[in-house]
Amino acid sequence: MVDRFTEKAQHALGHGFHDARQHGCTTMEPIYLLLGLAQVNSELLSRIGFGEEEVQRFRAKLPPEDPVTMQLSSGGSASVFYSHGTETTNILRRAAQEADSAGQRPITSGHLLLGLYLGSTEIRSELEELGVTEQIIKKAVAEEPVEVMHSPEFASMVRRHMGRPGIGYDLHRLEAGRKLIIGGVHVPFAKGPVGHSDGDVLAHAICDALLGAAGMGDIGKHFPDTDPKWEGANSLIFLEHLRKHFENQGLQVIHIDAVVITERPKLGPHFPAMREALAKALGIETEQINLKAKTNEGVGAIGRGEAIAAHVVATVAG
Ligand code: MG
Repeated sequence: MVDRFTEKAQHALGHGFHDARQHGCTTMEPIYLLLGLAQVNSELLSRIGFGEEEVQRFRAKLPPEDPVTMQLSSGGSASVFYSHGTETTNILRRAAQEADSAGQRPITSGHLLLGLYLGSTEIRSELEELGVTEQIIKKAVAEEPVEVMHSPEFASMVRRHMGRPGIGYDLHRLEAGRKLIIGGVHVPFAKGPVGHSDGDVLAHAICDALLGAAGMGDIGKHFPDTDPKWEGANSLIFLEHLRKHFENQGLQVIHIDAVVITERPKLGPHFPAMREALAKALGIETEQINLKAKTNEGVGAIGRGEAIAAHVVATVAG
């Protein structure tokens, strides 16, 4: 149903949730939705006789603001998850029914107002005291200008908060006598990668996946292999650099899923140490990193043990 709300209706819900949280409530009760509506569509509310004076009167009934939850609710979209009470769920259903019976797919702020009146006995009796009837609301809603589903700015904001995936791939040739570093961990083996840095395929593919999700280009742009600074470098440094970039831009790593393809050695026993090292470099939890290993069934360069490769999908939000 969420995808049916117009931008204005979504803003009303957002303001309602935020307001409820600021007042120490873990669920959004109908009064917060009404005040959220008044914030985003004061014209509609004024037309039914619910003006600034009524808003202030309703505000005075709210519990005091809670400094702890106020801090939480200003801490960014991903830090707090909201829910609404049973009565508000009923209101949203009624709003959807009103849209349905008008033959409209979008659920507008007007439908929310009707939903509040028809779905909450408390709000209904408060509005009735002001002389507001269902007919008055329906007339005001009918006079409402058409509401847009999503402006480009709003769509972009939703996309950012929902998280974006990025893909990363890397391959290195393997040669005898070189140190095999994967995911920042030394894996004892007769061969190791040929590369400008330490040739850590997993760290490099993660780096590319994260840069892709963030829309920041690729690893070659940020850490060129022509730069002597990166010669023999521990590739976890690249991830630590990214961590700082992400922090500066308010981006968060949601999840990393990776597969490393090599014929030998067996990587499974080293995964816990790799997840630890990668999570530490990125400032995330080990649970946010999933590692898998595959052989190439003896096929091609990887199958002959001449190369090692990694594929990664990373999800980033913010
Ligand atoms: Mg590489």
